[in-house]
Amino acid sequence: MGRVYNFSAGPAVLPLEVLETAAMQMADYKNTGMSVMEMSHRGKVYMEIIEEAEALLRELMDIPANYRILFLQGGASSQFAMIPLNLLTSSRRADYVNTGLWSKRAIAECKKYGEVNVVASSADKFDYIPELDASKFDKDADYFHITTNNTIYGTKISYLPDTGAVPIVTDMSSSILSEIVDVNRYGVIYAGAQKNIGPSGLTIVIIRDDMIKEPAQSTPTMLSYKVHAENGSMYNTPATYSVYIAMLVFRWLKSLGGVSQIEKINKEKASMLYDFLDDSTLFAPNIKAPHRSIMNVTFVLPSEELNVKFIKEAEKSGLVSLKGHRTAGGMRASIYNAMPVEGVSTLIEFMKKFETENK
Ligand SMILES: *Cc1c(COP(=O)(O)O)cnc(C)c1O
Repeated sequence: MGRVYNFSAGPAVLPLEVLETAAMQMADYKNTGMSVMEMSHRGKVYMEIIEEAEALLRELMDIPANYRILFLQGGASSQFAMIPLNLLTSSRRADYVNTGLWSKRAIAECKKYGEVNVVASSADKFDYIPELDASKFDKDADYFHITTNNTIYGTKISYLPDTGAVPIVTDMSSSILSEIVDVNRYGVIYAGAQKNIGPSGLTIVIIRDDMIKEPAQSTPTMLSYKVHAENGSMYNTPATYSVYIAMLVFRWLKSLGGVSQIEKINKEKASMLYDFLDDSTLFAPNIKAPHRSIMNVTFVLPSEELNVKFIKEAEKSGLVSLKGHRTAGGMRASIYNAMPVEGVSTLIEFMKKFETENK
């Protein structure tokens, strides 16, 4: 079997070139006689890999010098705890926006360590982004937390409110590197790698210098930003192979023209799919503009039977992992950076055919 078009929400499709390079370098990386995953993380060869990964990410996202990039483990879910443990240092209160399951988990974790104010919520259905009204925000909050792209529902926050001196912290797991963001607007950006960057096991944290503080006293050493920053992400063994793949993905993205170029391609892919869904008499999009994600496109058919039939037939045609999240149902096409335009046009052709056959 050849490669399929993989619409998985995560772990997700990676660029074929990256996989082929990794395969070529698998058993003998640059005449070292060993695989990247077998070598010391402190050796010269590996240090070059992690340093290139950091330099490329800094260049791709235009990350200013007063921000540190940390290569951690534990997924975005560990950040749900690291954020409050490290950042609730003053009022011990934080503002959160609740736009889905991941926001809910972040809120629940923060409640263990301090006071949470949910300042905006779409918890009734999570199919829109609530109004972010700055007059409702706590001026003394230690931070303001959002989830940029809601992977499960297919919504995206497309503007940032003015939070004054309160730093914005965001979970960008499913949209990092998909479009240009002004890093200066954030105190912390974090993301699990397995959506738009590389394999799971790697978590990227981009943190402004002044946000790296002494954490709460009982904080486990491994959950301290300060410890990881002071040790250049080498306090313990980082996810070495995942960082290497991420580095190859960053190289691929740079060779393509960087984030501004992939943003154009991503917007084209998303509008192709949304245009089809808006015009269809059988398929319906779950999310209305302007709340739509350009990474995760969710939709339904008129009956559960048709949903099941569609997912099954699509899979037979090499269009896989289109089933929606277990909590959301329906369908979800995740069209991350590594999904080519042809993957989306092939999906649309298939949907057109399905529509004709099932009307
Ligand atoms: C996938 C995802 C998570 C969970 O990430 P893990 O790395 O599995 O902990 C959290 N937030 C968002 C927005 C996600 O898409």
